[in-house]
Amino acid sequence: MTIRANEAWTDRRFTYRAWTGKAAQLGALVGIAWALVAGVSSLWWAVAAVMYFAMSCLGYAICVHRGLCHRAFVMKPAVTRVLSIVAALGLTGSPMGWIGTHRTHHAHADRPEDPHAPGDHGWWLLWTGPDLEIDWWRIRDMLRDPFQRWLHRYYLLVPLTWALLLAVIDPRAVVFGFVIPAGVHVTTSNLSTILGHGHGYRNHDLRDGSTNNALLALLTWGEGWHNNHHARPTSWSLRERWWEFDPAGQIIRLMAATGLIERNSLRTAP
Ligand SMILES: [Zn+2]
Ligand SMILES: [Zn+2]
Repeated sequence: MTIRANEAWTDRRFTYRAWTGKAAQLGALVGIAWALVAGVSSLWWAVAAVMYFAMSCLGYAICVHRGLCHRAFVMKPAVTRVLSIVAALGLTGSPMGWIGTHRTHHAHADRPEDPHAPGDHGWWLLWTGPDLEIDWWRIRDMLRDPFQRWLHRYYLLVPLTWALLLAVIDPRAVVFGFVIPAGVHVTTSNLSTILGHGHGYRNHDLRDGSTNNALLALLTWGEGWHNNHHARPTSWSLRERWWEFDPAGQIIRLMAATGLIERNSLRTAP
């Protein structure tokens, strides 16, 4: 694909499929209600928790957001691929599509061009999610990677294959290994766009309205220290005060120690 500077358009044909996120949210509601009434084994809830951790923390917070989007560190290629696929299971779009939107958010935070701007939608964002528009120029680094282009083009095949595999094992595995964790991930992801701007306190007096929110940080493995993040977007850790617990940052440190992330590639500034 050839791209030129300032070339941007909306790609809604095969990228995000907003309906899949909404379907996961509805499916998770039905699944949780059914599980509570039916009284399933706590082992199934553990499966859901592990999968939520995989999609939300390993897939999005670490790989797609801090690693690929902000280049806070360099992962081993195999780690990047596996975690990009895990992220795609969370139904918030392809990593490339998500990054195109998120970089636009950082460039225009809380201004009219911001695709996350909560001002226009308020709490409806919890259901509708941000307005996804991909600026191809902003993701020209991603476009150079044939694997990411493939994952973007055939994004929906990944969660569908996962669901089929789980269905072969046990129909309940589809509910707890896919539908519930994906529905929760879509919801906490949408919640980030609301609570991360205008709900909480600030360590940095920035021009945007970003805020640190402890509840959001708890639900999203440290991603809720959003004012810290806007102040230092390329930092691998979002923790600045001792009590700002950042589990994703701790795991990044562990991944660097074990060689899954290239040693000495961790960035902390500016
Ligand atoms: Zn933000
Ligand atoms: Zn960011």
